Amino acid sequence: MIPFLDLKQVNAPYMNVLKEAAAAVVESGWYIRGSYCERFEKKFAAYCGYAHGVGVGNGLDALTLMLRAEIELGRLALGDEILVPANTYIATVLAINAAGLVPVLVEPDERTFNIDPAKLAAVCSEKTRGILAVHLYGRLADMPAISAFAKARNLLVFEDAAQSHGAKSAAIKSAAVAYSFYPTKNLGALGDAGMVVTDDADLARVVRMLGNYGSEQKYVNKYRGVNSRLDEIQAAFLLSKLPHLDAWNERRRAIVARYCREINNSLIRLPEIPADPREHVWHVFTLRTPDGKTREALQKHLETRGIGTLIFYPIPPHLQQAYAAGAESESFLLPVDPKFPIAEKMAETVLSIPVSQVLTDDEVTEVIGALNEFGR
Ligand SMILES: *Cc1c(COP(=O)(O)O)cnc(C)c1O
Repeated sequence: MIPFLDLKQVNAPYMNVLKEAAAAVVESGWYIRGSYCERFEKKFAAYCGYAHGVGVGNGLDALTLMLRAEIELGRLALGDEILVPANTYIATVLAINAAGLVPVLVEPDERTFNIDPAKLAAVCSEKTRGILAVHLYGRLADMPAISAFAKARNLLVFEDAAQSHGAKSAAIKSAAVAYSFYPTKNLGALGDAGMVVTDDADLARVVRMLGNYGSEQKYVNKYRGVNSRLDEIQAAFLLSKLPHLDAWNERRRAIVARYCREINNSLIRLPEIPADPREHVWHVFTLRTPDGKTREALQKHLETRGIGTLIFYPIPPHLQQAYAAGAESESFLLPVDPKFPIAEKMAETVLSIPVSQVLTDDEVTEVIGALNEFGR
């Protein structure tokens, strides 16, 4: 059996360190936003190359609060349009709505799975104020092209980096970057956790306040905030796991190098390794099949071989019931073109296979063998 991802196996090598971290927090008597949170915020922001980090409850809140903070600071206004890839996880789109902004879906690039910079101009209106790029599957979106476009149109750029911890870009900075530390992510907590990183001290301060009932002084509430704070125990776990992140990502790249070299089957289209391999941390390894029927057969075939697979994602946001036409009138999804054939075709034909750092060489060989036998 090769499960898609076994979290117990992921955390087992660090059992003692994690137990010690938990015990230290229990003994400290301080459980939310304390010294572990502060240390992790500093360490992780520095790791990402940003000046400030604000720990929050989860990735969705990181996305929502960074956008809400820009509204509180007067740089975005309710109803402004934000460009976002049509094939993202629904959280990215929900966050834009939750902040009172309007998501405008943009088709992805078939080659990279990320937002297609060539399609930005066609959907950009005078109400467009920002772009929320998503580094889907762990591959950085084309930030040089996105930033250049944003600069020319005076748009704010944000990043959803929930799948790309440790991916390195060529020194292009955004207004803010949102991270999730959901247990399955490349850097995962043992529960929910998230963070906003930014160079903007004002933005960091407002995000921190918004996550604490809109307050920075006890019982004085400047904003209508929420409760979204990083637990000490999760911060302590993440602090002890962060030093290993680069090695885990390297191991993922080594597995991918073998997949791309050794998988050879005309029914399977492999993802591309970027010219600079540091731009991809392979949160998932996503294959494509010619059609939905072939994907179903491939998934079945792998299942009979005891190999776990997952589909990221079977239904794109615009086809979800949550976004059925007329669901809401105020914060409404605005499809410039109601059809997204590329995103829909991807949802029908993508299939992700195991790629986590805990796979052994023998398991990688087994996965490759099963894929090469498919359809023969
Ligand atoms: C996981 C994920 C999120 C949401 O993170 P949570 O911590 O689960 O709220 C947002 N965007 C993307 C692309 C994700 O993969």
